[in-house]
Amino acid sequence: MNQSLTLALSKGRIFDETLPLLEAAGITVSDDPEKSRKLILPTSDAAIRVVIVRASDVPTYVQYGAADFGVAGKDVLLEHGGEGLYQPVDLAIAKCRMSVAVPAGFDYASAVRQGARLRVATKYVNVAREHFAAKGVHVDLIKLYGSMELGPLVGLSDAIVDLVSTGSTLRANHLVEVEQIMDISSRLVVNRAALKTKREKLQPIIEAFERAAQSKK
Ligand code: ATP
Ligand code: MG
Repeated sequence: MNQSLTLALSKGRIFDETLPLLEAAGITVSDDPEKSRKLILPTSDAAIRVVIVRASDVPTYVQYGAADFGVAGKDVLLEHGGEGLYQPVDLAIAKCRMSVAVPAGFDYASAVRQGARLRVATKYVNVAREHFAAKGVHVDLIKLYGSMELGPLVGLSDAIVDLVSTGSTLRANHLVEVEQIMDISSRLVVNRAALKTKREKLQPIIEAFERAAQSKK
C-alpha cells in the first residue's frame, strides 16, 4: 500500500537537530524554513512531507492527525498533556532544563522558608503549579508566552520558570537559577491511529530515529 506521511516540526533548533535524524532514516529536506516562506516542505521521499508549525502546536497537529508524527520538547508535551500521542523515542536533542530563576539580589530560600507568597511568571503554568504545590510553596502564577526573563526586571513577578541551557540569557538579565525542576529534551510523537494504519511506513523511520538517538546518549 502507498502510505504517505506528514511530519510536524518547528523552525529553529528542533528543525536543525531533527535533520540529522531524518538523514539517518535516508530522508533529506532541501528547503531551509528560515529562508523559505513555505509551510509545507517536500523531502527526498515523495511520500513524506514536513509541515512547519509553532513549537507548542506540534502536539495538536499530531493529536488531530493533521500530521502523522512530529518532534516536540518535553516542556511542550507536559503542557499539552499528550492526549492521543504515542511517544516512542526520547530523541536526546534540544536538551536543556526547566528551572526557577530570580533576580540576583532576591533571597529565594528565605522567602520560601518564611512561607511568602511568590509571584511567578512562566509559559509553563501546569508544570510550575505542580512543582510548587509539591514543595508546599505558595505561588501566584502569571501566564506569559515568551521573554519570561523580563518579568522580574519590571516588577511583574518575583521569579520565573523557564528553560535554561547555558545560562547566558539569565546572566545577561541579572537572574540566577535557584532550582532545577527537570531535564528537558525533545521526543518523537506519533498519532495513535497513524501508528496502526501507517505502521509499515512509520516503523523503519521510528527505528532509525531510535538508533540515531541511542548513539547520542
Ligand atoms: P515559539 O517561538 O513558537 O514561541 P519556542 O520559543 O518555544 O516557540 P524554540 O525556542 O525553538 O521555540 O524552542 C523549541 C523547543 O526547544 C522548546 O520547546 C524546548 O523543548 C527546546 N528549547 C528551548 N530553549 C532551549 C534552549 N535554550 N536550549 C535547548 N533547547 C531549548
Ligand atoms: Mg524560544
